[in-house]
Amino acid sequence: MSPDDLKALVRTVPDFPARGVQFRDVTTLIAHGEGFAAAVEHLAERARAAGAEAIAGMEARGFIFGAAVAVRLGIGFVPVRKPGKLPVATIGIDYALEYGSDRLEIDPGAIAPGQNVVIVDDLIATGGTALAAAELLRGAGARVEHALFAIDLRELGGAAKLRAAGVAVEALMD
Ligand code: 5GP
Repeated sequence: MSPDDLKALVRTVPDFPARGVQFRDVTTLIAHGEGFAAAVEHLAERARAAGAEAIAGMEARGFIFGAAVAVRLGIGFVPVRKPGKLPVATIGIDYALEYGSDRLEIDPGAIAPGQNVVIVDDLIATGGTALAAAELLRGAGARVEHALFAIDLRELGGAAKLRAAGVAVEALMD
């Protein structure tokens, strides 16, 4: 399936999670066997070309795509988690949201020094989440030069923000 076919499988939900927001819902894409497999295949090709030695995905939708890509390539998956979920001593990063802030945590032992870790998530909007994940992974010793997304909401400028931090961004659809 082409990226255009995949785009048709993404559902747009108005006024979620807040009034005026057009939420791009990937539930319908991952429920479609052929579509989900094609999306994972496209992402895996890009991750392979980037020389990925591990995939990191952000909770929760990044787990769905990221773990599938990792399995496809036969490499490890690093879960980038919301606070308080990992059972070991973590390192974390706080980052600003439009309203308030959030935090991501990883197990620093999950990264080998200099390991080429490719970030995978369902969607990039402002880029704040992916940038925080990149900084966190780098803090644990990873080399983070590529981030892959099913969807890029280009008008929000996230890809440019990541590029400025040395992270190349690719997405299957705008
Ligand atoms: P950012 O930090 O780039 O502004 O927002 C991206 C993060 O928020 C991603 O982890 C993504 O899962 C989530 N997100 C924000 N807006 C949407 C949306 O419209 N659809 C989906 N599926 N996720 C979104």
